This record gives sequence, structure tokens and C-alpha cells, in this order.
Amino acid sequence: MTLNQTHDPSRRSWVESAQAPGCDFPLQNLPYGIFRTAAQPVARPGTAIGDRVLDLAAAARAGLLPVAVAGACQQTSLNGLMALGAPAWSTLRARLSELLGSDTCPPGELRDQVEDCLAPLAEAKMHLPAQIGDYTDFYASIHHATNVGTMLRPDNPLLPNYKWVPIGYHGRGSSLVVSGTPVRRPSGQLKPADAPAPVFAPCKNLDYELELGAFVGPGSQLGSAIPIAQAAEHLFGVVLLNDWSARDIQTWEYQPLGPFLAKNFATTLSPWIVTMEALAPFRAPAFARPAGDPAPLPYLTDATDAAHGGLDLTMEVWLATAKMRAAGAAPVRLSSGNFSTMYWTLAQLLAHHASNGCNLSPGDLLGSGTVSGPAKDSRGCLLELTWRGTEPLKLPNGEERKFLADGDEVIFRAHAARPGAVRLGFGACSGLVLPAQS
Ligand code: CA
Repeated sequence: MTLNQTHDPSRRSWVESAQAPGCDFPLQNLPYGIFRTAAQPVARPGTAIGDRVLDLAAAARAGLLPVAVAGACQQTSLNGLMALGAPAWSTLRARLSELLGSDTCPPGELRDQVEDCLAPLAEAKMHLPAQIGDYTDFYASIHHATNVGTMLRPDNPLLPNYKWVPIGYHGRGSSLVVSGTPVRRPSGQLKPADAPAPVFAPCKNLDYELELGAFVGPGSQLGSAIPIAQAAEHLFGVVLLNDWSARDIQTWEYQPLGPFLAKNFATTLSPWIVTMEALAPFRAPAFARPAGDPAPLPYLTDATDAAHGGLDLTMEVWLATAKMRAAGAAPVRLSSGNFSTMYWTLAQLLAHHASNGCNLSPGDLLGSGTVSGPAKDSRGCLLELTWRGTEPLKLPNGEERKFLADGDEVIFRAHAARPGAVRLGFGACSGLVLPAQS
């Protein structure tokens, strides 16, 4: 994807807070979400800019947006916008950049009209950004797959299909929730290795998984594949995704058909979709396969994807325990990784998903799988960080964690930053662990 005036690092917004150091939502980001406010309780699309949200439905009604996207901007989800495709997305982004830029929208009648469509971000109640028909979770980090495999099969950590097939499973749409929604500790069948039979009890080994979630744009018809060279046009944007995982339920249930109740009790998404166009300055080469690894099969091979299919995105996990919050202590960072360490690109995941003729629809969600890098402090779940609980984490206040405790709040953050580009952030993806249902 080529850079255009919406990426120009010299441009500023007349919404002054967009220029604040460390602001996640500068003029060059323009992420999309669905929000409502107390004053206007109907859910509608918005764009975050600094500490404000631009009401896209109000802007469309005021005639400020291109006709081609005005209808999609007045729906209660972003599915309509996702269905329109990349040229329409670019048209909208260019117009929003113009309306919110200090150089392109000087003080005057037009700026006053735009200002009438702004609301404080702090007053926006966020919804899931799309009606997600189908959700698939992949396993695209070879570091994560190798670490988990080592714990389960020390002699044979990586199964022979891993370097050929982007491994995934069909997730559950009904339990996808937006950041800030509390997550209740699940109960399920637990069977310690030395016990003769399982019991039904609250999960003891509750974990998070740090992932990226990619939203599908136009999608495909049943029976038609999406060629890898066209896959990028079907990717609308990305959010942070927490694939909450009950490790003890997982251990007992996962063979032979894979994850089920250990995963589908809740999956949390950050509310703001950072578009692939906004991320254009932060593309990276696809994972450099070491000598001896097989080349991807032709349907997963594309020169542009190999050169630019990766994303240079720093992804962090933060934890605030109940005791820390009571003491007024700030959250502590548990790990920091980078999405460029993933073995498969988002385009490869999408092309693979459609390669058998499985149809993808606007608003479908593809989880990347846990983002873990080669370094120990870049491991994206507690299973890996504490090596299945054998190396507990020591928190600054003296508490220890093997897995999550009730009252723990898990917060994901991500940002993209490079010389010559304006830093973009994702906002938070957070969830507070509630005790199991009694
Ligand atoms: Ca996962």
C-alpha cells in the first residue's frame, strides 16, 4: 500500500490533543469504532482523534462525507463500511484527514460544522465495532507454537504440519466482548494428571493470550478462493484481541478436535479498528524463514506480501491486581513483543482460510494466535511466561502469579512507531477477572 497525504508526518490536527506526546489517536491514525453517548444513545460509527470522537453519522447527515460512504457511516455497525472495499475506505480516510487537519480545514464555517460532530472520548460508551458472523483463531507465532509444544511434547515440540499449514480453529462469535467487559472465571472439567477421573470445578489456571484480530472487508463467495495477491484488499483493519484461555480445561478436552470450552467463554477486543491504510508506514517483510524451512506453497506465496506483509507493531501486556489497585499502584508490564516475529502474515491467514472455497464475509474476524517472540520477555501468555506455572512471576508489590487470580485486570496495549512516521496507538484492550459463578 502506497503512502499518501494522510500519512504525512508534518500534518497536524486542529484538535490539539491529537498532538499530545504518546497520544494513540493522532491525525495519521483515524481508527473506526462504534459508540454511543448519554446525549445520543443510538450506536453509530465514530473516528477517534486525540481525546475526541468524531460522530460519523452526524457528519454524514451534515453532508460532510463522500456520498459513496455516507450510508455506511449511518449504520449501527461497521459491516457496511467493511463491505465497500479498499477504494471507498481510502476515500473516507482522505476526507476525514482533510476535515480534521489544521492546514486543510482552517477556522471557519466548515471547521465549525465538524466541531459540532465531536464528542469527548471519555463520554463515549464503546460497542463491538462489527457484527461478527464468524471468528477464526490462528496459531501464527512459531515461537508460541514451539514453547507450548515443548511443554506438551518435549521431544517433538513442533508438529510436522506447522511450517506448511497456517494452523487455526473455528472460534465462537457469541462470546466476543468489547474492552472493559468483565470476564467471569469459567468452570469446566479438570483432570489433574494423577487423578483417576475429572471433576467439574472453577478453572484454576486462567490465562490470557495477546493477539491481533483482523477484520475482513468485502470477503468472498462460497466456492471461490481469494488469491494471495488480492488478500490485502480484503483486510479492513486490526484490533487487539485477548483469547482468554482456561489451561486446565484445555489440557483435558483438546484432543482430538482442538480447543472448545477452554476458549469460548470470552474473547475481548479493543474497540478501535486501526486500518491497514493507517498502518502502511509500519509494514515489514514477512518472517525470514531460516535455511532448511520449506517455502510456503504457491497459493501462500506473493512477492509483495513477502516484502511488506509483516507489521512492525509493539504489543504489550500489563497487569493490575486487586491489591495493586487498592494501593493506588500503576499496572505493571508483563511482556512486550512485536508482530513482525509472526511466522505467517495476515494475508496468508486470509488466503489460506478462503483457499478451500470457504466464504468470508464483511466483519468476520481472524485472530492471529498468541504473539510471542524469541525473547523470554516477549512471550504473550502466562503459560509461556511462567512455563506452565513452574516459574511464577514476582510482581513489584511481592505478589506472585502462575496464572490469573480473581480481581486481576489484564490490559493489552500496542503502538507502531518508526523514524519518519507519526506514532500510532490502539487504545486499551482490558478485562477484569470476576470470581466463578457460585
Ligand atoms: Ca489463541
